[in-house]
Formats: sequence, C-alpha cells, structure tokens
Amino acid sequence: MIQAILPVYNTFGLTFVRGDGVYLYDQNNKRYVDFSCGYGVNSLGHCHPAAVKALKEQADKVWHISYMFHHPLREQLAERLVKASFADTVFFTNSGAEAWELGLKMTRRYFAAEGQPHKYRVICMAEAFHGRTMGAISAAPREYMVKGFGPLLEGFDVVPFNDAAALEAAITPETAAICLEPVQGEGGIRLHSQEYINRVAELAKKHDLLIFLDEVQSGMGRTGKFFAHEHYGLKPDIVSTAKGIGTGFPLGACLATERAAKHMTAGSHGTTYGGNPLAMAVGNAVLDVMLADDFMETVCARGKHLAEGLQGLAAQFPKLYCEHRGIGLMQGVQCQTGIDNRKLIDVMHAAGVISIPAGDNVVRVFPPLVISNAEIGEGITLMHQASQEFMKTLS
Ligand code: PLP
Repeated sequence: MIQAILPVYNTFGLTFVRGDGVYLYDQNNKRYVDFSCGYGVNSLGHCHPAAVKALKEQADKVWHISYMFHHPLREQLAERLVKASFADTVFFTNSGAEAWELGLKMTRRYFAAEGQPHKYRVICMAEAFHGRTMGAISAAPREYMVKGFGPLLEGFDVVPFNDAAALEAAITPETAAICLEPVQGEGGIRLHSQEYINRVAELAKKHDLLIFLDEVQSGMGRTGKFFAHEHYGLKPDIVSTAKGIGTGFPLGACLATERAAKHMTAGSHGTTYGGNPLAMAVGNAVLDVMLADDFMETVCARGKHLAEGLQGLAAQFPKLYCEHRGIGLMQGVQCQTGIDNRKLIDVMHAAGVISIPAGDNVVRVFPPLVISNAEIGEGITLMHQASQEFMKTLS
C-alpha cells in the first residue's frame, strides 16, 4: 500500500522536531550539528531571532495580499536586492524552480519581442540541476528525473561542464542564452575555471546571447559573495535565486537587467503566493543580517576554516576521500570510487553531524552562514569519528 506521503524521496531514517542555530534536535532530543541546512536553505541557521521576530510580527498584520496590490515590504526587498546586485528588477516566487522558469520565459520573450523568435534555444551544462518543473528537467535531463515524463520541453542543448570548445561548437543562430550555475551544487560542488567563464562572457557578447545564471544554491552569501558570479567578475542578464534568501521560509526571486526584462509586460507572468508579506518580512530580515558590514568577509573566513578541516579529514582518511572542493561555505569531499557516499553519510548522521549527498559521489557540507569556528570544529570532529567508524566496515 502506498504511503500517505508520495514516496518520491529515498529518505534518511531521522526525524527532526526542533532547530536552534546550527543544531537540529530529533524526537529524543538528540542534538546534531547541521552541516546541510536543508540543501543550503537555512542561511541564518535555525530559528534565527531576527527572522522569527520579523515573521511573528508580520503574522499579526497581514499574511496575504495579491501582487495586484502594493506592499511596502515587497518594494523594500526588491529595491535592496537591486541595490546589492547587478539587477535592475526583481520578481518574487515561492521556489527555485519557479524563479528559474521565469528566467527561461524571459529569455524566450526577449528575443521574440526583439523580432528574433528563431532565437529560443538555451545551452545548458551537463550535471546541472534547475528544479523539477517540466522546463527545468528538460534543461537538465538526468535519466531518473525525466523517465516517463516525456515529451520534454524542446529547446535545450546540453554541453559538457567547463568545456569552452564544446560550448562554442554548440552555438547556432537559434541560440538565445547560456545557462549555468556558477558553482554546480547537485552536480557535486563543481567550480568553473575563470578562463571558462571569461569565454562565456566573450561568446555571449559575440553572438548576442543572454547570460542566465542559476544561483538558487550558490547565491545569497553561500560562497562568501552575495552572488557566486561576483567571484568571476561575470555580468549576467538574468539570475534565479531562492534557498538562502528565506532562511527556511519558502521564497525565491528572479533578478534581471532592464534590457533582459523589458518585454515582461503586464499579464505576461504571474503568481498567487509569490511576494506575500510573510515571505517579504523574512527576506528583509535575512538581508538585514547579510548586508551588514563584514558578513561576507566572515563567511569567507569561516569557509577557510571549514576547508582546512575537510582537507585534514581527506588527508587522514585517503581510503575514503579523494578530493576536497568548494568555495565559501559551499563545500564537499568526494569519496573514493567504491565508497558509497550515502552509506558514509548514514554513519555521520549516527555520529551526530548532518551532511547530505551530492552528485559525483560527494559528501556535501553546507553549514549555516552564521556558524562559528568552534561549531565548525565540532562538526569536523564528528565527521572524523564517523569516518573512523566507517573504516571498520571495510575489510
Ligand atoms: N536550481 C538549483 C541550482 C538548485 O539547487 C535547486 C534546488 O536544489 C533548484 C534550482 C530548484 O529549487 P526548488 O527546489 O526550490 O524548486
């Protein structure tokens, strides 16, 4: 008999009932260091006092008004995002996939309205992930995600990761945009080279293509910059983001330049819940913390500390780990061939540290951005203990 909850997740055996800062608590009140943040969502950790206060205060005022009416917190959040980024305009969504879908629609609309409707194809990266809508799975068509869901949306050309020659060869007169995650999350915490990103910018200019970035996972301070593309000096036209912007409250956003967004006129897009006052209150509270002086510098410093810890782990257990990767607090360790990252993660959970898998056999480490060095040390110690335990299971 099917479970009451549609069984589309291969869940871990843990049940959490409470969170506080970098810690999660199960139903027996056992404490865990959260090195996962729900896939990078809880940017300010669990129940950050400023986010809780903002949400509670807004809950007593008004929960929902449609996008047809103004709300001061929506205007405030949009203006702050514009000021803090490359963008001229913002649309709020409830999730990352919705934000990404809008980026796709905006891309097609731009060229159609510019009298070039033949330019509709988007070049995407192998091992990318953009969400679970039909558009998003068509752009990043992994076998297990697309099987049985066809026909997929037409118009995507997938090229190998970080391969400039392949990218150039894939461009045709029908190409409208290059879409990439500046740091691939689900694909295994993979960074593009600076040379590759420079080439993306050159090719986009030469062929009049939009640069459409998916920063749902890498954005909002995760890598130690407001957006990860800033590390590369890349100037995007469209960016989708979500996760960290709401620190756990469902909130996403599609940001764009005036040029890319200029044909998104009244009636061309919409949402019922996007931009609701509860989400806007939390988003503003998140920015209060994130845009404060030294926040990003501190994330970078914590990232360095975490990297040293993970490099030490990989060096101490060469039979388990072959590589450390990442930037800021978006990190991971790749497991050796033959080591099942998920089984190793099970042992980490039992030890009291919550990591999660990523592609390429990686153990993903995404702590809250507000973590201290001492808390990083605690999590790393638990990863060492778990690795030692796991070693015993190898003959
Ligand atoms: N894009 C990227 C890069 C992601 O990592 C994710 C989620 O993991 C998404 C899009 C989809 O976001 P959501 O699950 O909020 O729809």
